[in-house]
Amino acid sequence: MIIEKAERILENHELCNNCLGRCFAKLGKGKNSERGEAIRNVLNMEREANKQSPIKEPQTCELCGNIFKKRDYFAQKCYDKALKLGLEFDSFLIGSSFPKDILEKERAIVEEFELDYAEPINREFNREVGKALELLFQKPVNKKNPDVIFIIEPYTEEIKIQSKPIYIYGRYRKLVRGIPQTPFKGYKESVASIICRPFAEAFRGKAVFHGAGREDIDVRMLGSGRPFIVEIKNPIKRKAVLEDLAKEINSSEKVEVFGLRFVDYKTMEEILTQNHRKEYEAVVYVEDGVEEKDLDKIVKTLTNATIHQRTPRRVLRRRSDLTRVRKVYKVDGKVIDGKHIKLRIFCDGGLYIKELISGDMGRTTPSVSEIIGKRAICEALDVINVEVIENGAKSPHNKEKNKG
Ligand SMILES: [Zn+2]
Repeated sequence: MIIEKAERILENHELCNNCLGRCFAKLGKGKNSERGEAIRNVLNMEREANKQSPIKEPQTCELCGNIFKKRDYFAQKCYDKALKLGLEFDSFLIGSSFPKDILEKERAIVEEFELDYAEPINREFNREVGKALELLFQKPVNKKNPDVIFIIEPYTEEIKIQSKPIYIYGRYRKLVRGIPQTPFKGYKESVASIICRPFAEAFRGKAVFHGAGREDIDVRMLGSGRPFIVEIKNPIKRKAVLEDLAKEINSSEKVEVFGLRFVDYKTMEEILTQNHRKEYEAVVYVEDGVEEKDLDKIVKTLTNATIHQRTPRRVLRRRSDLTRVRKVYKVDGKVIDGKHIKLRIFCDGGLYIKELISGDMGRTTPSVSEIIGKRAICEALDVINVEVIENGAKSPHNKEKNKG
């Protein structure tokens, strides 16, 4: 039945041994070229016995145009390209984009002859080039999670390289006010740009900054820092000494990073989607004067308080107007002088502290202004700690921090 089918195929289409073998790819073992050659041999023996002329392998295959003869050529091309780029990887995969007309022609043959055991052309091509490249690179093909994918356009001979993104976790401190977290009109640099530059250079890819929440331009980020992830898209290099990158960033004297480490996608997602609890230090200005008993009232009222906060007027243009419910867990403070107090506030992420102090014309309640019955404004604000829960447990660093 196979030989009869093969004969009908070859009487109608001039196929190379690869393309012939591929019609029956899921039967037996070995390469399609060997499978095709074996089928053709048996077929031609039968034809000879029947005094028919043999059907030889054509000069040019009408389906693939003899693309499989260029297997080693493509492997070498990928190899040279990787070498020239200095591409770093431990595993790879070959992909290919075959022209539509070839894929359609193949589909038509499969349908015409009801080829239930056939395999698509790109799959054979990818596998064969992959095998040749494994020898050149001395590195394995990895179908599930390769570091890099070489995507070959077999007929234009263009090769594209896609490399798996790299994720690096760290925490940053913003030591000065007046820098936005991410690029912002009118500011030359940002926390993101200061952090990303050395990463982009070291990994030779596009570095994208993801902060676990954000702070305002005029707010410093101190203490144990804010978690962030740098995602390197399409990196050429996969190895770098992270401490060296930290040193370079820290020499900016504006932003400091520490605890850098490689993480996987899942960890990145966990860190970025947690609603991190935060600790702030705020200097509050009360024009009508403030004294110990005001402070006592603030501490007592805000400790374990539930805050209803409508979207602050200052961010209404960017955020939808809704009422958030957030908790304040702990408040400490001291009077600095007759008009200033310092507050340390430990609360849910997503609570706007400037408005917790001012009350934002009654949009945040309770607020410091409301509690003492005097207009209070936040004069300076620092984020002291951003709590991170890693694998269900707080990091030891944070446990320390939050005790006090
Ligand atoms: Zn062919």
